[in-house]
Amino acid sequence: MISVMFPLLRKLSVSGSNLPSFRIPSWSDQDFNMTSNPAVQIPSKKEINKARKIYRLLETTFGIPEWREPLPAIDELVSTILSQNTNDANRDRAYDNLRTNFPTWKSVMHADPDKIIDAVRVAGLANQKGPRIQSVLKQIKSERGKLSLDFLRDLGKEEALDWLKQHKGVGPKTAAIVLQFSLGIPAFPVDTHVYRVSGRTGIRPHDMSVERTHTWMEQLFDPEQYGPGHLNIIRLGREICHAKKPECSKCPLNHLCNYYQGLGQNDRD
Ligand code: SF4
Repeated sequence: MISVMFPLLRKLSVSGSNLPSFRIPSWSDQDFNMTSNPAVQIPSKKEINKARKIYRLLETTFGIPEWREPLPAIDELVSTILSQNTNDANRDRAYDNLRTNFPTWKSVMHADPDKIIDAVRVAGLANQKGPRIQSVLKQIKSERGKLSLDFLRDLGKEEALDWLKQHKGVGPKTAAIVLQFSLGIPAFPVDTHVYRVSGRTGIRPHDMSVERTHTWMEQLFDPEQYGPGHLNIIRLGREICHAKKPECSKCPLNHLCNYYQGLGQNDRD
């Protein structure tokens, strides 16, 4: 599956993940900048209300998403590193292959790098992912004395995110996934689908960076909505709001969506 992602989403697997390459429609600046002072970048009440309407509509359409039992944080971290730039099936194959051939994280850490690369090759970018996985394991062991990320629960959220993001190959999305889905610390991961759908619907400023969108989404929703909201937006992105040729006519959000409302009648599918 996913653009992002990760085992958490196995139950929601649908094909495809694409970069956001949609044309910019003709909605007005006012539509984008509902915040009274864009420089401050705090969501307006209007944006928050719209986001929560979208949340409810997606819940009505898709239900409350379920996911498996949380993985230990290191497992989630490695799985998410493997998920980058590939689909869920290949991520899962690479992860299972790695765990089969190297049953402990210690054995992964000490393995011949070429063997780790071979084990994760099916996930693509194996020459990067293999060394990054070994490097992050070595750093965890050398800094913490054991291969566990449980200590992150004792840090503040921002400190935990910063600790994870200091490692090569661990960006804001990967760090947020580990916090939200493994450590139980509310965080809103933004993958390519969340970024695309939030931009098209207009619940974030169109020129906002992916990294900033993480905290923006957290400002739009309540913490208990982060996980279900993230998963349902991803599902919409995979099944309906495709990067190319979104199927707007069957989208439950079309009456709220800036992109759709900006299309001329002839461009609507
Ligand atoms: S109306 Fe179209 S562009 Fe808007 S969220 Fe739905 S599928 Fe995406």
